[in-house]
Amino acid sequence: MKLSRSYIADFVGLLFPQLCPACGEALMANEHVICTSCQYSLPLTNFHLQPDNIVARQFWGKVNVQAAYALYYFTKGGKVQNLVHHLKYKGMQQIGHAVGNIAGVQLVKNEIFYSADVIIPVPLHKKRLKQRGYNQSTCFADGLAHKLNAVVDVTSLIRTRATETQTKKGRFTRFENMQEVFMITDPEKLKNKHILLVDDIVTTGSTLEACAVELLKIDGVRLSIATIAYAE
Ligand SMILES: [Zn+2]
Repeated sequence: MKLSRSYIADFVGLLFPQLCPACGEALMANEHVICTSCQYSLPLTNFHLQPDNIVARQFWGKVNVQAAYALYYFTKGGKVQNLVHHLKYKGMQQIGHAVGNIAGVQLVKNEIFYSADVIIPVPLHKKRLKQRGYNQSTCFADGLAHKLNAVVDVTSLIRTRATETQTKKGRFTRFENMQEVFMITDPEKLKNKHILLVDDIVTTGSTLEACAVELLKIDGVRLSIATIAYAE
């Protein structure tokens, strides 16, 4: 008997089911990375339809941002937290690509986001990158780039020193800490580009703001922002 490839895949799937990183249920053979039920039920923000959304407001009066977007609302203990956790700490880079694709399908219909030339992920410090082996925001950028027909640039913006854990500090201290942490290596390359700066989660926006300050020093740069999730 000749076994078809999908039959073998189903059989292997029965023995070692792949789990959806959002809900923990076994994926069906036709499901890829995130199960169908989660794809339809994860909490979309639809911020691309609201120019004055809460993420965009974080930057008002600080840095000039064309448009700001987050794909999902993040809630503690929720499915989006599971997704981001598996993306960052469990080596599941494919989650970044999957959510990048989902976000891309929304953003491709928006003329501001669609006009982005270059996608730049918020860089990790090189020590952290070595530890983790990948930058989770680059995975998201790759998925987005595919839909938006833009290029991903991981060399022009770098993080020059590792920052300590920031969660217990207030907003002002956080921003102060970020000063001089990011540096542009090749301003010529980015001149007159519309840059889409991307990160995994946006909360106060202080990290994105610190990157934006540096990028906006380059002549003719326009900047927009996209993240996987927004957390209050
Ligand atoms: Zn699921």
